[in-house]
Amino acid sequence: MNTSTSQLVDNFGRKVTYVRMSITDRCDFRCVYCMDEEMTFMPRNQVLSLEEIVLILRAFCELGVEKVRITGGEPLVRRDVDWLFEQVGQLKQTTALKELTITTNGSQLTKYADSLVAAGVDRVNISLDSLNAQRFLELTRTGKLDTVLSGIDAAKQAGFKRIKLNAVIMKGRNDDEIVDLAQFAIDHDLDISYIEEMPLGQVTHQRHESFCSSDEVLAKLQKSFELHPSVTNTGGPSRYYQVAGTSSKIGFISPHSHNFCESCNRVRVTTEGRLLLCLGQEHSIDLRAIIREYPDDIERLKQAMIDSMDIKPEGHDFDIKEQPIIFRHMSVTGG
Ligand code: SAM
Ligand code: SF4
Repeated sequence: MNTSTSQLVDNFGRKVTYVRMSITDRCDFRCVYCMDEEMTFMPRNQVLSLEEIVLILRAFCELGVEKVRITGGEPLVRRDVDWLFEQVGQLKQTTALKELTITTNGSQLTKYADSLVAAGVDRVNISLDSLNAQRFLELTRTGKLDTVLSGIDAAKQAGFKRIKLNAVIMKGRNDDEIVDLAQFAIDHDLDISYIEEMPLGQVTHQRHESFCSSDEVLAKLQKSFELHPSVTNTGGPSRYYQVAGTSSKIGFISPHSHNFCESCNRVRVTTEGRLLLCLGQEHSIDLRAIIREYPDDIERLKQAMIDSMDIKPEGHDFDIKEQPIIFRHMSVTGG
């Protein structure tokens, strides 16, 4: 039951309590499912400033948003990102904000893990698609596995409440590592989610050829582990299982095979300040235009957020056989 007092309620009675904010479209990796080899990034003046990001998040949290996830692109490559986290962390004292989280590729965590915890970041999601250094390099095109593994260690030392790995599984690329990745999570006392590839933006491969459903991943895992369905409900596309005899949970993020829209509690803000009401649709409003025209008027911004609830669609309609459905890359939308 959603007991929040959020003032953001859509036409289907769903309360918005969760905002995902992409703070940069840039990244030090070029993961094959996320980006093209050659990417053109947004000109800096189109990207929200850190101050604008804080203002938007303050407005959301004053309206009752309880959970914020900072993502990207790679959030930790943005300059002065530690200042941003300090500011957003302080919203826990003055607004409805209860939980601050980040999704990262882990490449900068040895540098930032301690300051993120100090700023009030509760949980971290770290992407890890392979435990083989050569393959990790192929999938990320630029990433070094060792650096990310050191980042995971640093996150463990820093004392986040929980660390979760994210793995996008692709047929013929890393589907033979499904069990090894889960074992790695268990051995390190972490959770792990397996993500179905989503058709966001044009990439080099044909997505339907690499598509691997959560049901296939689950079937492989059940041969090696005893999994008990968990009651955890995030209001999102995730289903969780507890691995018997361990502290680890295994999640499945399945936008294709399991429709999750009816309990949707979230919205996204893109790098250039577009409030997206649904990941799989284009319904949006331009928050940047409002704050650049009326920089000191947080009430106007809040009213626009409330009004936007009128256009939150009932659900997405992804189809993996069409390519691409949505021309935005995940790095712009924020995963
Ligand atoms: N750079 C950070 C990272 O990789 O964790 C944060 C941003 S990334 C866009 C967020 C998540 O989206 C990652 O776990 C990534 O694997 C996932 N992702 C990116 N493109 C995707 C796609 N087309 N389908 C499914 N997941 C995708
Ligand atoms: Fe960068 Fe994350 Fe996209 Fe990989 S998934 S290219 S790390 S933004």
